[in-house]
Amino acid sequence: MSASVRTRFAPSPTGYLHIGGARTALFSWAFARHHGGQFILRIEDTDVARSTPEAVQAILDGMKWLDLRHDEGPFYQMQRMDRYKQVIAHLLADGLAYYCYTTPDELDALREHQRANNEKPRYDGRWRPAAGKTLPSPPSGVQPVVRFCNPLDGTVAWDDLVKGRIAIANEELDDLIIARADGTPTYNFCVCVDDWDMGITHVIRGDDHVNNTPRQINILRALGATVPQYAHLSMILGDDGQKLSKRHGAVSVTQYDDDGYLPEAVVNYLARLGWSHGDDEIFSREQFVQWFDLDHITPSAAQFNTEKLRWLNAHYMKQADNSRLAAEVASRLARRGVDPESGPAVEPLVALYKDRASTLVELTDALEAFFIDLHVAPELLAQHLNEPVRDALGRLATRLDSVVWEKAALSAAIKDTCTECGLKMPQVAIPLRVVLLGQPQTPSIDAVLEAFGQERVLARLKRAL
Ligand code: GLU
Repeated sequence: MSASVRTRFAPSPTGYLHIGGARTALFSWAFARHHGGQFILRIEDTDVARSTPEAVQAILDGMKWLDLRHDEGPFYQMQRMDRYKQVIAHLLADGLAYYCYTTPDELDALREHQRANNEKPRYDGRWRPAAGKTLPSPPSGVQPVVRFCNPLDGTVAWDDLVKGRIAIANEELDDLIIARADGTPTYNFCVCVDDWDMGITHVIRGDDHVNNTPRQINILRALGATVPQYAHLSMILGDDGQKLSKRHGAVSVTQYDDDGYLPEAVVNYLARLGWSHGDDEIFSREQFVQWFDLDHITPSAAQFNTEKLRWLNAHYMKQADNSRLAAEVASRLARRGVDPESGPAVEPLVALYKDRASTLVELTDALEAFFIDLHVAPELLAQHLNEPVRDALGRLATRLDSVVWEKAALSAAIKDTCTECGLKMPQVAIPLRVVLLGQPQTPSIDAVLEAFGQERVLARLKRAL
């Protein structure tokens, strides 16, 4: 395949960029990148009632977060109205489209009649010009729609790059309305003009569009356009095997950001939703682009698996720079109303805790105790602090007052206190963790003390004893 591959992502801005849309965008982007081609972003905003600027922004934000950069666009369909009208005028002039004056009432009556005769409801072509046919004279006061002259016989077929050959008899397709009575072009028509004008070579999209494809191919052919290749991606099912929906929690891609996932984990995860490269589960964006093809996309539905996403995220968190994670944790603390400057340096804490968290939210949860004015629940204190333990912690506090504040010396101070009090290490270390952080389990206690800092540790110890 040559470097002339051109793909597009064409979302309708009626909601967020959800996981299915993001996967479509990722595959379209990766296919273009793999072939050194161009990736185009087109906003299909002709449904004025449902399209909003906020949704456009949410889509742009989601694409940015996933770092799916487009080479051209974003193009907005609402800004291309003149072009669509121009093409409709050409089709009318060439006899490839016609005015239809059938009123909604007449259409209802027609459908009623067809249903009564057990026929499939469809437009009957009454205004379609034909050799030797006399058309009724246009009624006054009726604004006509424009209909496309769909081929009357034969089949329209394509080799879907995911689903294989699909063929539809033209008999099944009636003459599509391409302009409404108010002159505005309709969805399927705009898509055709855009794919044509934008020189799209490969349309990669959700399989909810399979039914539109034969109509679009017929229109593209009438326009004299090169028909692109189509790859229809199967749907994504939720964890429970049901169609992915709002019920499954995270609908918007940026919700995954809020939930503490790293974009590279989400990209890696999405890449495997319906596509595979042998048994490879973890791979970089570069490897993905290098490997990505349409031959290994499965035609069956992909199933969302939150546990797997968490596992990938934990992997990418381990790999991530501590400074980057620290910045993430700091901004998350700030969003919770906790001042990250009010505690110890975040980065050493991240280094200690990141292996224990699957998401940035879990990491922030674990680190929050270092930054807030912590009040450990009295029951928890009562559970862990008896007299001998209080005594030991008091002695430890005295030692910690004058110790060199680094891990080895801190570890020695704890051990010496244990020996002095006849207690085992956990008998001191666990209550110490509870007193300092309200957590019976933490990473190695000497490292935690070191990262927390002398002044803060002593203040918390003194307050508890
Ligand atoms: N705007 C359509 C959607 O959001 C996509 C159209 C297409 O890819 O052809 O579902």
